Amino acid sequence: MGAARVLEYEGFRKASRREPCPICGHPDWCGFNSYLCSCMRVSEGAFKHIILSNGQVAHLHRLETGMVAPGKQWEEFIIPEVEPAPVEVRDRVYRHFLRLLELYPRHKEELLRRGLREEEIKRNGYKSIPDHVNPWILCKKLIRSGLDLAGIPGFYRAKSNGGSYWTFNSSPGYFIPIRDAQGRIQALQRRMDDIRNGKYMLFSGHSDQGGCSCGTPAHVARPLEVKDGRVWITEGQLKADIAAAYLGAVVIGAQGATSWKPVVPEVLELGATEVVIAYDRDQETNKEVARGKRMLVAELKKLGITVREAIWRARSKEEKGIDDALVAGLEIRIV
Ligand SMILES: [Zn+2]
Repeated sequence: MGAARVLEYEGFRKASRREPCPICGHPDWCGFNSYLCSCMRVSEGAFKHIILSNGQVAHLHRLETGMVAPGKQWEEFIIPEVEPAPVEVRDRVYRHFLRLLELYPRHKEELLRRGLREEEIKRNGYKSIPDHVNPWILCKKLIRSGLDLAGIPGFYRAKSNGGSYWTFNSSPGYFIPIRDAQGRIQALQRRMDDIRNGKYMLFSGHSDQGGCSCGTPAHVARPLEVKDGRVWITEGQLKADIAAAYLGAVVIGAQGATSWKPVVPEVLELGATEVVIAYDRDQETNKEVARGKRMLVAELKKLGITVREAIWRARSKEEKGIDDALVAGLEIRIV
């Protein structure tokens, strides 16, 4: 027997206690189908490593020697990945999309509490994820105004008897625009109301349903008025917006301390000659954060950029971020 079967794309199942990951044996985090496993823990033996939208790396392992149809590659059986549209296209769609939405009072109050002023909230363009309009109706509106949602991270095609329609995940929360050095909206971050799966989640993914990933873009936050010519770097988009408002400086918000790579092209695009890194003060105890910072510093120095670091004495866990330290009026030293 042993007749090799020709593979067809098959959706991934999440590892569970009943069906643990076939590579690492753990009951969570990983995913697999009958011929591929996307393991989050074991990289040895993987044929491909994929950076997920949250910055984590998935290791792809073959589970059987099925036959790949002539002219096809194993890689094609992972997920039919759609390339994201160019940034100017994404910017146009996201602007139209955000214009259709409003900012609910509960979200506005939260932003005011974080230390932003009303005019900054308006200018930065935060909008609530709609909880009383069907997402597909909003998608229809966008398409009617001549926009194409293919290649726009966050949107995907849901299946309905025989056909499919454009939609997006409308779990409650609010959108935080992620802008590039030119102010274009390249992606959207979401601050979730229900934080059990994480406070922040990118508007991205659903690759198995015609959606695409936005990667881990860095956000360039601009103040109303630039008083400090240096470019600051922190982790988190909202944190960058708040820090920019208080510092009067351009602040780049990395997706996380480990996703430092997308920060570099934005620094270059801004033409910065001096940067100030202001990562969370828990870097002394957080190895990943410390390593991410070291690598970013080395890369920037290689490019001839002067790198400084902001430090402050956090009196509590609530003051570990530069935004909270600034709002609390702590003394920030630059070394
Ligand atoms: Zn695994």
